[in-house]
Amino acid sequence: MSFSASVLTLYPEMFPGALGLSLAGRALASGTWSLEAIQIRDFATDRHRTVDDTPAGGGAGMVMRADVLASAIDHVSPAGDPRPRLLMSPRGTPLTQARVRELAAGPGAVIVCGRFEGVDQRVIEARGLEEVSVGDFILSGGEPAALVLLDAVVRLLPGVMGNAVSGDEESFENGLLEHPHYTRPQDFEGRQIPEVLTSGNHKKIAAWRRGEAERLTRERRPDLLAAHPLVK
Ligand code: SAH
Repeated sequence: MSFSASVLTLYPEMFPGALGLSLAGRALASGTWSLEAIQIRDFATDRHRTVDDTPAGGGAGMVMRADVLASAIDHVSPAGDPRPRLLMSPRGTPLTQARVRELAAGPGAVIVCGRFEGVDQRVIEARGLEEVSVGDFILSGGEPAALVLLDAVVRLLPGVMGNAVSGDEESFENGLLEHPHYTRPQDFEGRQIPEVLTSGNHKKIAAWRRGEAERLTRERRPDLLAAHPLVK
């Protein structure tokens, strides 16, 4: 069974967007994964097809209604749907490569994209939505966050990445940032490729790469290093 993504959004035209091109687009066309974008507004019940209302307690902005969103969720993900239900949210658990791997190994995901100030808390609780953040900044809507999450997941699906090995050495996969890369020409504006990389000595090359990975991680992400099992 292929990975099945259902995205609930007020802007279904944003999908597949960037995911319709390149690796993800080819995998979508070949059926390695599937994507449906559901218009939340279709589940509004009033004449004006209202999906939001003013915040209880006052304040600026609007809040997405629990009842409309719940109907949309129940339509795409009835009880018994094995897929996790995610809500893109800056308050959520920060997305990690480990969670991306888990999702890629599962049946798919139901992804709710918020807009306005966010969604009514009661639908988060009542439908068991897992809040996921793509970083400590505020987007205008959950759609770009959903595209980011799906891009990270889809490239891990079997057969999507041409060279499977390239996934294992990447940043975060071993708890470190990746070493720098070089390719031809040998001389670029007077800068040379580090000699060790053209030495043909694979043991030395591996040691250099490991050293660079540790150095970059120490400089840029000491938080990762603190959590690393081997490097101190
Ligand atoms: N008032 C909210 C921000 C709302 S932004 C707050 O201060 O927390 C509108 C929508 O964009 C959110 O409901 C969410 O779905 C999405 N969004 C914004 N930033 C995000 C982020 N960093 N990660 C994931 N989703 C985000």
